[in-house]
Amino acid sequence: MAKQLIDLHYYTLELSIEDGRLGSTEIELCDTEDALLSKDDLLDTIHDWVIEGNWNPRGAIVPVDYILWTNKICEDGCIVDHGTVEIHIEPDHETLIELALFEAGHLYQLKNVLNCEHNWSRENEGGCNENPGVYSTGGTTIIINEHCTKCGLHRAWTRYGSQRNPGQSDLVDYKYEPERGSD
Ligand SMILES: [Zn+2]
Repeated sequence: MAKQLIDLHYYTLELSIEDGRLGSTEIELCDTEDALLSKDDLLDTIHDWVIEGNWNPRGAIVPVDYILWTNKICEDGCIVDHGTVEIHIEPDHETLIELALFEAGHLYQLKNVLNCEHNWSRENEGGCNENPGVYSTGGTTIIINEHCTKCGLHRAWTRYGSQRNPGQSDLVDYKYEPERGSD
């Protein structure tokens, strides 16, 4: 007799961020013989939901609380799983570059800059000889400065290292310095 390996079940997923309720949705998850439900599918669903939000374009780490309820018709639901997951929101580079060009008054260069095959250089960015362009700002935090030798886009990464505060995401900043594009 063929073994039934996969069984689809409906659940209700409830999400909240720092006690602010995001809402709930019905989801379909596979039960297998080994596990009550597929954790990867659950995490993917939470991730896809959260990244739709309006986040800081510089990047963010968002702690999300979730509760998973059984949702069988004509039965009261009960909690089958709950917990907190950290969703990493990647920086929105395109939006940040657009803002940088706008602030520099060179928005008309946007297409050129976005299409540039950047050649990042840390020359003349300060720092020490072994690590040009790299600064320590105390603790495990470093800032890495670099610019593109072709289009003059300047990029600074802030990396917080191991001593970061909970939920503190690495950040990226852009500036447009067209005079640097002709190194
Ligand atoms: Zn470039």
